[in-house]
Amino acid sequence: MNNRLFFFPGHGRYVLFTAAALEHMYRHAQRRIWHKEAGGEIYAIDPDANGLIVTSALGPNRGDRRTRCSFNPDIEAAKRDRERQFAVGLHAVGLWHTHPEPHPSPSGQDRQTTEEYLSAFQGDRERYLMVIVGNFGNPPNMKVCAISQNTRTKWVELVEESTSSVPTHDHGNNTWS
Ligand SMILES: [Zn+2]
Repeated sequence: MNNRLFFFPGHGRYVLFTAAALEHMYRHAQRRIWHKEAGGEIYAIDPDANGLIVTSALGPNRGDRRTRCSFNPDIEAAKRDRERQFAVGLHAVGLWHTHPEPHPSPSGQDRQTTEEYLSAFQGDRERYLMVIVGNFGNPPNMKVCAISQNTRTKWVELVEESTSSVPTHDHGNNTWS
């Protein structure tokens, strides 16, 4: 299991997803017709860093309303998740959820939800991420977008760095060194 690295346009900023965070999201990929959408929040130690390191993902929760094509989180459970993570020094930096499509892209509802989350920070966050895990590929295709809110709302799509050119951040199973 590898980390994955996504760059903002211009390569000034990046988001690194650790294997642990990815593993959690992959488990919910909608690989079968009866699998429902799942999701939750993703967390990092330093939400304002230029290089964001997403170390964990939580959700779904029992009280979420889920169908094959929709996901509505249980707000109270999400809040409890968030408080527990905060207690161990982790900050919510975005949302993740699954889509029953091979090349996932955000719906209008997804964008609206993410914008609502960002505005709930009342200026405490410059940007918020949206991660969508598709149902095809090994590892599954992932779409990562960021919304920022300075003078106006702006969406950007991040670009994944191909694994061959990424220095490994693994400290365990380096088979080629
Ligand atoms: Zn969606």
